[in-house]
Parts: sequence; structure tokens; C-alpha cells
Amino acid sequence: MNLGTPATVHSTTVRTAKPVPPWKTEPVTLVGDAIHTMVPAGIGAAVALRDAALLCRRITDRTSPLLDSVHAYETTMLDYGFAAVARSSTAAAEYTRLLAWAGTR
Ligand SMILES: Cc1cc2nc3c(=O)[nH]c(=O)nc-3n(C[C@H](O)[C@H](O)[C@H](O)COP(=O)(O)OP(=O)(O)OC[C@H]3O[C@@H](n4cnc5c(N)ncnc54)[C@H](O)[C@@H]3O)c2cc1C
Repeated sequence: MNLGTPATVHSTTVRTAKPVPPWKTEPVTLVGDAIHTMVPAGIGAAVALRDAALLCRRITDRTSPLLDSVHAYETTMLDYGFAAVARSSTAAAEYTRLLAWAGTR
């Protein structure tokens, strides 16, 4: 910060999702930040793309009713999605700790 140009720096609020329990599957579902937004740690977009790919695969490969396929997607997505949220929060906390440590040097 001391070496930067203060006028080019601004703060912003960063939020992270809290785990939600599974819901009754309907014809509308959620992917990406709409369900598991996370603090920036370099993986949010990748997890959103994983959602899209998995949902597409569950629907196109299905041998059972459509909502069963959507439900299977939601079950898997909630698991890895909120694991990614937790990992991002841990990484951000570590990064903040390192910045604070560097600031004391
Ligand atoms: C500062 C920052 C840095 C990041 N860095 C990285 C990174 O390095 N690597 C990484 O993988 N991820 C990163 N991310 C996270 C990544 O940007 C998101 O996880 C990703 O964009 C989520 O994609 P999404 O499609 O779910 O949502 P979004 O990208 O938010 O897309 C949602 C879209 O829906 C549109 N929309 C909203 N409401 C409506 C409406 N009513 N009607 C029509 N359209 C609507 C929005 O305009 C938007 O275009 C970063 C995020 C931030 C904030």
C-alpha cells in the first residue's frame, strides 16, 4: 500500500455463502455464485463451470425422471460447492494473516 498510488485503491465488501440444507427439488435449480459464492481465492469460476458441466451431464445421461437427475446434481454440488467455500475462507484467512505479518517487517 505504501508503494502504491492511494487514489487508485478502493475497498469493497466481500461476502461468502453459508452452507444450506438440501431443498425440495423443483424445475429451477442453482449454479455457481448464486448458491455458493465464496471469497476470491481463485476457484469460484472453476466451481461454477463444474456445476454447469455436472448438471448438463446429469440431464443428458439420464435414465430416470428429470427431477431425479436435477436432485442428484444438487446433492453432489452442495457437497463440493460448500467444501470449496470453506477452503476459500481458510485461504483468505491465511493470506490476511501473512499480510499482517509482512506489515510488521
Ligand atoms: C474480485 C474477484 C476476483 C475473483 N477472482 C477469481 C479467480 O481468479 N478465479 C476464479 O475462478 N474465480 C474468481 N472469482 C470468482 C468468480 O468471478 C465467480 O465465482 C464466477 O464469476 C461465478 O460465475 P457465475 O456464472 O455463477 O456468476 P456471475 O459471473 O456473477 O454471472 C451471473 C450473471 O448473471 C447476470 N444477472 C444477474 N441477475 C440477472 C437477471 N435478473 N437477469 C439476467 N441476468 C442477470 C449478471 O449480470 C452476470 O452476468 C473472483 C471474484 C471476485 C469478486
